[in-house]
Amino acid sequence: MIINELKPQGFCHGVAKALKIVKDAIKDKNVKKPIYILGLIVHNKKIKEALDHYGVISFDNPNMTRLEMAKKINDGTVILSAHGTSLAVKKMLETKNIQVIDATCSDVYKVHTQILKNKDDYEIVYIGKKNHPEVEAVLSLTNDITLVSSISDARKLKKRTKKPLYITNQTTLSLFEVLTIVQELKKKHQLIFNSDICMATTKRQGAVIEQPKADLLIVVGDTYSSNTNKLKEVSERDAKIKSYRVESISDIDPEWFKDVKIVNVTSGASTSKAITSEVINYLKQFNYNDKSTWDNTSKVSYEEILS
Ligand code: SF4
Repeated sequence: MIINELKPQGFCHGVAKALKIVKDAIKDKNVKKPIYILGLIVHNKKIKEALDHYGVISFDNPNMTRLEMAKKINDGTVILSAHGTSLAVKKMLETKNIQVIDATCSDVYKVHTQILKNKDDYEIVYIGKKNHPEVEAVLSLTNDITLVSSISDARKLKKRTKKPLYITNQTTLSLFEVLTIVQELKKKHQLIFNSDICMATTKRQGAVIEQPKADLLIVVGDTYSSNTNKLKEVSERDAKIKSYRVESISDIDPEWFKDVKIVNVTSGASTSKAITSEVINYLKQFNYNDKSTWDNTSKVSYEEILS
């Protein structure tokens, strides 16, 4: 098979920074242990497993809010994850005198700053997915933000003031879905809008839209990673190329490649380069007619995942 590697690959600057903060904290004697993370430091379970191995405790319980998780912590240090943390959680940790290290991405904070700067002159509308940690953090900034998650929400939007709308968005959505919602809002409302999709997400989606002709696109990344899931969606909707998402080579089904000649590969912003390289090398040696090339046991070490 011909394998085309789409660029960029490896961690985006926000994920790279968050992981460096955690790795430095593990080694730093002045950082109180244990180290806790509320949810996942970045949306990738392989990284969580690697951090578990080094003694970091990630609360990853979908039935608990971050505030409930914070209530349970009485010692050590909490590292705030890359996509932001609500003010209520920050206050709770402060009152408990827990050491806190902030690993929030600068692109996420840029959106917070814009909201706080514009909230008095505009009615803020935030396009994002309900219950995503980034959305939870944004909604905690002020009570005056309206969350819009779909075209239907946009149609139903009822303004609370006479001010024009200021539209901003979750950093990892697809430009297509954000623009579709903005177009709907424009039908009834006066507004200003600048896309706040981060550069890492924009570049990856652009590469998928312009990908070379292929039978399949393999997207390497976690099921919880918003930007990863968007790459699969963009490939099928905009590039009309069938796509499978895998977390590592272990998720690959060799039957996908029967009669397949060209495969493109991309990866989410929180996917380790080592995992993507293993997928690419597996596909390069794969031959559907030779079962000795089918073994898809992943051999990437925890150290490689975090590097
Ligand atoms: S995907 Fe974008 S917003 Fe998220 S950590 Fe990376 S650069 Fe920051």
